[in-house]
Amino acid sequence: MTFKPSNLKIALQKSGRLADKSLELLTQIGLDFDRSKDCLFAQCRNFPLDILFLRDDDIPEYVQDGVCDLGIVGKNMIMERKAAIKPLLPLGFGVCRLAIAVPEKSEINAINDLEGKKIASSFPVCTQEYLRQKNIGAEMIQIRGSVEVAPSLGLSDAIADLVSTGNTLKQSGLRELTTILESEAMLIQSQGMLPQEKQSVIDRLLLRIQSTLDARNSKYILMNAPTSALQAIKSIIPSLSSPTVMPLATDGMIAVHSVIQEEIFFDVIERLKALGASGILVLNIEKMIR
Ligand code: AMP
Repeated sequence: MTFKPSNLKIALQKSGRLADKSLELLTQIGLDFDRSKDCLFAQCRNFPLDILFLRDDDIPEYVQDGVCDLGIVGKNMIMERKAAIKPLLPLGFGVCRLAIAVPEKSEINAINDLEGKKIASSFPVCTQEYLRQKNIGAEMIQIRGSVEVAPSLGLSDAIADLVSTGNTLKQSGLRELTTILESEAMLIQSQGMLPQEKQSVIDRLLLRIQSTLDARNSKYILMNAPTSALQAIKSIIPSLSSPTVMPLATDGMIAVHSVIQEEIFFDVIERLKALGASGILVLNIEKMIR
């Protein structure tokens, strides 16, 4: 298989936490490609895009240097590599935070207590930058993996590591002290000017991704309601524009269709029921183009 110079190149994590979700997103936006195991490259059959599968710590530099036009990588990794790239879109997966944690029984209870202490991390750049901003002088111990064990091995007084649920920290007898940064997977672009044809392919890709992300966060609802409740219903549905309202065969009743955000869904449904809405149907939306 060979690269086509006219195709866009996107870098994805080869294996690891972001790998499956990144591939799932490309499939959801209608891209058709084969990924054979251990293959580092795939070409889309129905879109001018080549996919490279790389280590996630290499992705920021590949995009910065223009070797790849686009990449999907954690914000934490972009910050750690101090990559000069253009962030395009947060993608809503790979959500985690880089946090400083100390052993349960540690005497370190506030960030100022870290002065003069040893902190083990795989993210020394972000951690040091945070400490510098807080005027704290601590010694960084760079470790590649299993950072949680560093304090119990006597290697460090604290750690700075990625946390999502916090369970791993608890199981390792650690407690969180503070958050250095919040992270999620990001779509990034190289900063250099691209030929117009490539930029317009990126714009097409962005429209597809944005509409998929918007659809994921939204539900389509249909309900019957008393006409007299319409104003109150409108005020609690922050709709895309205005809801669709249709008269029903039964006098004094209407059908209302609208789109609501997933996060306010249950709250809105309860309030609609209280206003007399019935027969409420809720549908997933596949794509949403604004
Ligand atoms: P991996 O190579 O599988 O360790 O994936 C690492 C990337 O996944 C990180 O750079 C983060 O952007 C993201 N991530 C999301 N949640 C976590 C977590 N709890 N621990 C480590 N990485 C996470």
